[in-house]
Amino acid sequence: MLQSTWDNSFPVEPSQIAQKLGVEVVETSLGGEISGALIKTKGRDPVILLNEEDTASRRRFTCAHELGHLDRRTGDLSEFEYIDFRDGTSSTGEVEAERFANAFAANLLMPEDAVREQAATGHNAYDMAQYFGASVLAVRNRLSSLGLPR
Ligand SMILES: [Zn+2]
Repeated sequence: MLQSTWDNSFPVEPSQIAQKLGVEVVETSLGGEISGALIKTKGRDPVILLNEEDTASRRRFTCAHELGHLDRRTGDLSEFEYIDFRDGTSSTGEVEAERFANAFAANLLMPEDAVREQAATGHNAYDMAQYFGASVLAVRNRLSSLGLPR
């Protein structure tokens, strides 16, 4: 997905990637519990909702997470129906599809080569959070999944 839609600059902006893929991204008020949603109904383009009250880094991660649910689908997307509400349960990792979407988001926002390069040039998790537009926690998770010191 990155190869066809990304201009190689950081931070990666998943909402721009979504738009290039024909996915509408709407920032709106979703209340305190829900950070985002993916709504795909039959015969319609997918829509990603992001909670406008979340921080930019959280909105970025949520958008990338929802793209992960779309990327998992192969075949005729117009027939696909799916609704994902991203809330507390989606980050616990108990549901396989949610784990996939979270891993997809981490890969999209923090590509392995770029993370390794940042680590090799002495950048810590705080520097990287700034660089990738991600939370420090998300950077630390990414570093440990790549076997790098956090
Ligand atoms: Zn999800």
